[in-house]
Amino acid sequence: YAAKERGGRHRAYTPDLDTRAGEQARLAAELRTALEAGQLSLAYQPIVSLPEGRVVSVEALLRWTHPERGAISPAEFIPVAEETGLVVELGAWVLRTACAQAVTWRRAFGATAPERMSVNVSVRQLAEPTFAGVVAEVLAWTGLSARDLIVEVTETAVFDGGQALRTVKALHELGVRVALDDFGTGHSSLGLLQTVPVDIIKVDKSFVDRVTQAGRHAVIATALIQVSNGLGLTAVAEGVETADQAAELHRLGYRFAQGYHFGKPVAEPDFGAALTRA
Ligand code: C2E
Ligand code: MG
Ligand code: MG
Ligand code: MG
Repeated sequence: YAAKERGGRHRAYTPDLDTRAGEQARLAAELRTALEAGQLSLAYQPIVSLPEGRVVSVEALLRWTHPERGAISPAEFIPVAEETGLVVELGAWVLRTACAQAVTWRRAFGATAPERMSVNVSVRQLAEPTFAGVVAEVLAWTGLSARDLIVEVTETAVFDGGQALRTVKALHELGVRVALDDFGTGHSSLGLLQTVPVDIIKVDKSFVDRVTQAGRHAVIATALIQVSNGLGLTAVAEGVETADQAAELHRLGYRFAQGYHFGKPVAEPDFGAALTRA
């Protein structure tokens, strides 16, 4: 954190950034109590097969309902939790809650339940030498089988020295599936596929957004499905918002997708209720 402290001194000259740093510190302190106070919850979003839209898996997304400020986006508080290290504890809670929910749905809905649960994991968690063990414990405790769990990592996370990569390899050996999240937005994405044991690539929303317009985004979306197929991976298109996008992705060869067009992230029991209707 030396670099950050140096940055902090420069920030003092800029009132706006200084306020922002204070705000971050306040968030960090409040986040610490949020878990115990029951302000954190999970929302679940379906991942579906194309073109029929059958739910195959589900992504767990962390939600924080602050008593005064209402909903705070994970894009805002996860970076804070990463910086303070609290994400390790939060992440373990997410994992336990999501895996337990997956088993509950399996018991309640049988074959209609999503086959797999997908959980986002931060680099800070992967950097913990104990993380693969924590995952194994959660699987044993909940009774979810390793092959029904997907761990989503952002590609840059895997670069973070040796331990993150060792953890990913250990998870893969447990039988847990590994997904590269926001694929195509980081550095050397394709190079990573040579060294990291990856099962799934989640093609970033930015390529999906303009996939129906002839242009570079569509070309990249096409190239990514070819790479994925060629390497025997599963590609999931993220952030699909329209029927036209879904149809075009299917035409390009995508077999799985996620996005508001198929279902927004919702809390349980709404997710279970949607499964009942399906
Ligand atoms: P992500 O893992 O890439 O998750 C996808 C994000 O896109 C989610 O935002 C989801 O609500 C949103 N999304 C899904 N479909 C659509 C769509 O069709 N249109 C649009 N505009 N957005 C869509 P969310 O829930 O705000 O999460 C943001 C990010 O926060 C996640 O990106 C993930 O990186 C991180 N995050 C969320 N929960 C956790 C967690 O439990 N642990 C960690 N480490 N990170 C998490
Ligand atoms: Mg994700
Ligand atoms: Mg993503
Ligand atoms: Mg993301």
